[in-house]
Order: sequence, then structure tokens, then C-alpha cells
Amino acid sequence: MKIHEYQAKELLRAYDVPVPRGQVAYTPEEAKSAYEQLGSALAVVKAQIHAGGRGKGGGVKLVRSGEEAHDAAKAILSKPLITHQTGPQGQPVRVLLIEEGSAIAKELYVGLAVDRALGCPVMMASSEGGMDVEEVAATHPEKILKEPVDPSLGLSAYQARRLAFGIGVPAASLGQAVKIMQALARLFIDKDCSIAEINPLILTKDGKVMALDAKMNFDDNALYRHPHLAGYRDLGEEDPREVEASKFGLNYIALEGNIGCMVNGAGLAMGTMDIVQLHGGSPANFLDVGGGARADQVREAFRIILQDKNVQAILVNIFGGIMKCDVIAAGIIEAAKSTKLDVPVVVRLEGTNVKLGREMLAQSGLALIPADGLEDAAKKVVAAAKSAKPRA
Ligand code: GDP
Ligand code: MN
Repeated sequence: MKIHEYQAKELLRAYDVPVPRGQVAYTPEEAKSAYEQLGSALAVVKAQIHAGGRGKGGGVKLVRSGEEAHDAAKAILSKPLITHQTGPQGQPVRVLLIEEGSAIAKELYVGLAVDRALGCPVMMASSEGGMDVEEVAATHPEKILKEPVDPSLGLSAYQARRLAFGIGVPAASLGQAVKIMQALARLFIDKDCSIAEINPLILTKDGKVMALDAKMNFDDNALYRHPHLAGYRDLGEEDPREVEASKFGLNYIALEGNIGCMVNGAGLAMGTMDIVQLHGGSPANFLDVGGGARADQVREAFRIILQDKNVQAILVNIFGGIMKCDVIAAGIIEAAKSTKLDVPVVVRLEGTNVKLGREMLAQSGLALIPADGLEDAAKKVVAAAKSAKPRA
């Protein structure tokens, strides 16, 4: 789960990390009155979307009066914000953060992620913070310093000092930087983050260290341990099909191709997408119906796949381990009855009760294309999609 900058800053504040004073606004009028209430000559109007690169995309504007705040807010809210992370269609902006402006002396970067090679969280820091940190990581990897974080000990003071010295924090501000890094690492571990970063972490002209921007992602599988974080979820920022799928316990990710995939198990789903691609097709989605899906989940899965008008054929690839093939067959038949199944469906079933499942499908009167093995299924679905007409 991703959250907005203003929410991430609430969490930082709770961990005693200094952040600028600010207020959320939903309209240009609210932005104007937020500016007036802040009482700071320089303020910043910031688009709140679940994507980075807002500064370069025009989603962060410095303002010096209530009128300017109003106009900046109006401009940002008026059209989708396009950044290198949103895709060309951009992301509509519904929420703004109005903050007091800061006098920046230097922009630094600090952040944590899980390092798969090390098998633990790693704290990263760079003297080259700000809007080009991705480029720094790509062209000057030596400018990103790293310290592994022991999940039970957190980031030790000596590690934080090593990073702070390494990125050139002046001696007078070192204590503040160390505290912030340790707090960020604590937050990352406490809240089961997958990413927690502050970019930029700024040094102000009067020697203060402050988080000017924050980005946090949380491990969905651990959200049950953090009921208060559920309130931060903004469904407006998520793909509606993925939200819909999650209501039925389905793991669905929308993609650009034209072959709908319904598979049980994430590994098999990825293998299925690979083999479709290998045979010249392009998957329209990733969908894992889970190890023990019920007939109604299968029906919903079909409905969600078919909502995507790019889909021209569907490949059902089920290995009946925990899930029984007759249950899947019942789901397919139910789905065909309740939704307009207007694309060819290739079915590959294997495993528990496969004979019964195949019989049910054969006797259903549905025009399904049975496949023998994964490769045969991939070839058949690619051919079916190629010869299909565009859907209404
Ligand atoms: P991002 O582009 O989505 O990462 O948005 P950020 O919140 O990081 O803002 C982008 C850039 O705007 C920062 O790197 C700063 O250079 C600039 N910026 C943001 N807030 C302030 C501020 O209070 N004062 C000044 N002078 N610049 C700011
Ligand atoms: Mn940033």
C-alpha cells in the first residue's frame, strides 16, 4: 500500500522527525486560507498523488501570497499530473498539501528498502538528494552510501554517524541527522514498510535538518498488524479493477496486452504469462485466484477480466492441488451463464478431479477450447486472440 506525502509526514512527526508546518487543501479557496493561516511569506503548494517526480511535472509550486496559492492550487487541480512515474495519461489530483516554505542550503537523500541480496533492510544516504536522485544512483552509484539494518537492533548510532559524515552533514547538524535516520529506520521496521524515504532531507540556512518530502510504501501482507494505517488507504489512487479484485480476495494486476489470464498460484500465473509471451502473445493481466478459490471467486475473476475491453481471449490455467478441478469447472460454467462470455476461452486443467472437471465442461454446451498441457494452451490462446474481432 502506498500513502500520500502528507500522511507520511504525520507518521514522521509522530517519530519526532522535523517536517515543515502544513495543511491539507481540496480547493483553491482552501489553499488560499491555508496560506493565510500558515503566516509564512513563502509557502509551497504540493500535489498529493501516489507517484514521485511531482516537482519536475509541475506539481510543486512556490507561492508568496494568498492569491498565488489560490492560482497555483487551481492550476494543479485542473488537470492530471504527468510525471515519469504516472505514465502518459497522468494522475488526477484531488488533494494538496500547503506548507510553509523552507530556505534550503543543501538537499540530501535518506531512505530504506529491503535488500534482497543482504536479506535485511538497508539504509541508503546520499549527498546528492533532490529531484535527480534516480539518475545519481544510475550514473554514480558510489554516491549512494549504504548500511544494513538489523531488524531487532535498528540502525545503530555509529552507522547513522558514518552515513551522516559520509554525505557531508556539518558537525553542528550531525546530531539531528543521526536522530532522523534512526527514527526513520525505527518507523520502517515498526510499520512493516517496504520503502520509507525522505527526499530531500534538507539542511536549512540556519543549520536545521528537516524532511521536506516523504514517500512510504507498506507491505500489504502485514497491514493486519496496523489497523490505523488502513485509514490512510486512498482508493482513488488505485486501479479500480485491482480494488474490485481485492474485495473478492483475488490478486489482479492490469497489464496492456489482449490475453486474459486466470491462474491459481502466483508462480504458475507468472509462468503462464511467460509462455504466452514466448508464443507471441501479450497478457492483459496477472491474476492469481489463490490456492483454494471458490466458484463465486472464479465467476468474479471472469467478470473482472472481461471488463477490460482489450481482452480478446482468455486462458484458464488451473492446477488442481488444493483447488479441485470440478470447482473450477463449476465456476467457469457459472461465469458463462451470468456474464456475457464473448471471447474464446482456452482451458487447461490438471490435477485433483481433473476427469470430472473436464466432463463437466464438455457437457456444459459452452464453446470452450480444451488444451493439453501448458504449451498447447499458450499456442491455442495466442491463435484465438489473433483471429478474434475487436469487442464492443
Ligand atoms: P517530488 O518531485 O515529487 O519528489 O517532490 P518534492 O516534495 O521532493 O519537491 C521537489 C522539489 O521542490 C524539492 O527537491 C525542492 O527543490 C523543491 N521544494 C519543495 N519544497 C520547497 C521549499 O519549501 N522551498 C524551496 N525553496 N524549494 C522547495
Ligand atoms: Mn521528493
